[in-house]
Amino acid sequence: MSINTTCPYCGVGCGVIAQVDAANNIVSIAGDPAHPANFGRLCSKGSALGQTLGSEGRLLYPRINGQRASMNAALDHVAAGFQRVVDEHGPDAVALYVSGQLLTEDYYVANKLMKGFIGTANIDTNSRLCMSSAVSGHKRAFGEDLVPVCYEDLELADLIVLVGSNTAWCHPVLYQRIAQAKQQRPGVQIVVIDPRRTMTCEIADLHLPVRGGSDVWLFNGLLAYLHQQGHTAHDFVTDHTEGLDEALQAALASAGDLEGVAAACGIHADRLLEFYRLFASRARVVTAFSMGVNQSTAGTDKVNSIINCHLLTGRIGQPGAGPFSITGQPNAMGGREVGGLATMLAAHMDIEDARHRELVQRFWRSPRMVVKPGLKAVELFDAIHDGKVKAVWIMATNPVVSLPDADKVKAALRRCELVVVSDCFENTDTNEFAHVLLPAAGWGEKDGTVTNSERRISRQRAFQPLSGEARPDWWLICEVARRLGFDNGFNYDNAHEIFLDHAALSKLNSGERAFDIGGLAKLTSAEYDALEPVQWPVPARGHAGTPRLLQSGRFYRRESKARFVPTAPRAPVNALQEEFPWVLNTGRIRDQWHTMTRTGRAPTLASHLPEPYIDMHAQDALLSAVSEGQLARVETQWGALVARVKTSGEMPRGMVFVPIHWNGANASDARVGALVNPVVDPVSGEPEFKHTPARVTPFTVN
Ligand code: SF4
Repeated sequence: MSINTTCPYCGVGCGVIAQVDAANNIVSIAGDPAHPANFGRLCSKGSALGQTLGSEGRLLYPRINGQRASMNAALDHVAAGFQRVVDEHGPDAVALYVSGQLLTEDYYVANKLMKGFIGTANIDTNSRLCMSSAVSGHKRAFGEDLVPVCYEDLELADLIVLVGSNTAWCHPVLYQRIAQAKQQRPGVQIVVIDPRRTMTCEIADLHLPVRGGSDVWLFNGLLAYLHQQGHTAHDFVTDHTEGLDEALQAALASAGDLEGVAAACGIHADRLLEFYRLFASRARVVTAFSMGVNQSTAGTDKVNSIINCHLLTGRIGQPGAGPFSITGQPNAMGGREVGGLATMLAAHMDIEDARHRELVQRFWRSPRMVVKPGLKAVELFDAIHDGKVKAVWIMATNPVVSLPDADKVKAALRRCELVVVSDCFENTDTNEFAHVLLPAAGWGEKDGTVTNSERRISRQRAFQPLSGEARPDWWLICEVARRLGFDNGFNYDNAHEIFLDHAALSKLNSGERAFDIGGLAKLTSAEYDALEPVQWPVPARGHAGTPRLLQSGRFYRRESKARFVPTAPRAPVNALQEEFPWVLNTGRIRDQWHTMTRTGRAPTLASHLPEPYIDMHAQDALLSAVSEGQLARVETQWGALVARVKTSGEMPRGMVFVPIHWNGANASDARVGALVNPVVDPVSGEPEFKHTPARVTPFTVN
């Protein structure tokens, strides 16, 4: 049997063919040559998916307080616990913390339950940690959270600027596509803007190793340069934008002269000028950005400073041009479509807009509707810690490892009256704190859709039976909803029925929002099963999808104009001190995914980088009295971990890098989240994972 499905890891969203040999219990994985995200390519993680299957280590049965329980008893317990807390303390005392790993259908019912039925917007997601600054930046500039470009634009561009993105490791198939385009079109130039000299620099014509956090200086400087050198697209700016004068004023105030910008960014002025000239001289420019931009207390301003440069030059809404937020997770985009963030309603509608609330409530026929945004991820766990949120259901994510100040998250869960965790795996750091554990269906067992970084909706299809008593997340949510007395809103028999609701709801904002998949709202079950990857909007039945947005120059703000957002540069919140002289930067490695609950099971992936490490410049290592291969302790005001020192040559002076993947379950507590400062962007709520003051000392066993 051969099934076409989608890789469950990064936001590239590669198509996968699973070849199942049931007789011998073997699943072979190959890239899907027909899938437009990857055309048959897979990276190491995708290729090893077959090794992560099987029942070993799976959470197979529900548990209540550590004891095996029936599914009925566990679901009753969850519903009774949530009901009690709502009755005693009100709806805002309960919360869901969900994940970009969920399928869109799971996300849809979770959001519906909380915002329309329980009546709280306290549903946030681990996507808050990876792309919420891009969401906020898009909304401020375009009026809607939308990515205007597609992967093909990376192949059509004459200049690709990769900002804060180790594409080679974190979005490997996109990197392969970019590298191939460069090979085939020799004039293509690639600029990498990243403090680290990562593997991505292998294809860079220019690498700008900017000081961490200096992106707004850099792009404000670019805006000023482009304007001063006569590269303003006057007709486009007049017809389709507003606010240029204010943005220019802000840019000139902070980045008026080249030398000053270069000094703020910590790079040579001639390299900076080289970049500015390149940007000015190429009509087709894509600026692709990722966590190095988003995960910052100035993340939203960084995003807008990039978008401003594209608006000024009119390089948006055309083939090969535009700003491009590359999402981290497989379904970060799908979660945004259904309002899976505490700050959004379903179908890209706004919680603050009374008419939108009414539209959604009428569609759901729901008894109530939230009127204000809920708590964002870090605030949510603070509220649990402070006893304001008393019951939480964590789905498909491991916050005890991944959130900043992760030891505080542990303390919060220890204090919480009811912690429910639904997960595929038995031994995660977060499961330890669960009063109720619910076994969730894993990749290969569940059915639904995901949306990748280029707005492409693809099917994930089941090719294996459910393990033990595991059930799809949407099913678990609907069962709890019914037990809470909400039978009518949650009578779904399968993912297809949920998808139709989601698609029909998107039609309600038609004309006001780009997000419209109303053309998929009447798919039969067979058509849903056979759904080919398609990019939204899909406004009418039979519509082929929309590779590029904003081609008409129409934006989703008042008078259909985009907004230049004035951005003033600011340094990371926590400055270096004598005691903590290095910047701790965190991120992914090539062959692991998130907290390793799945990739940690694949033997071939372990061979790349088998243990956690502290990467630093050789001279900084010398100053810290540590050396290559030696165990060292990296410590911040929030926590510490021990790992081996590497001096890979990638690091600039003053910065240490520790990967995010290792955890308490698979190493001697190498959770780097426990070291990260819990400060967030004031607009998006995204944490500053790239800048925590730290020190490194030799590790000695007493
Ligand atoms: Fe999966 Fe991303 Fe690799 Fe594609 S690039 S195979 S989506 S991890």
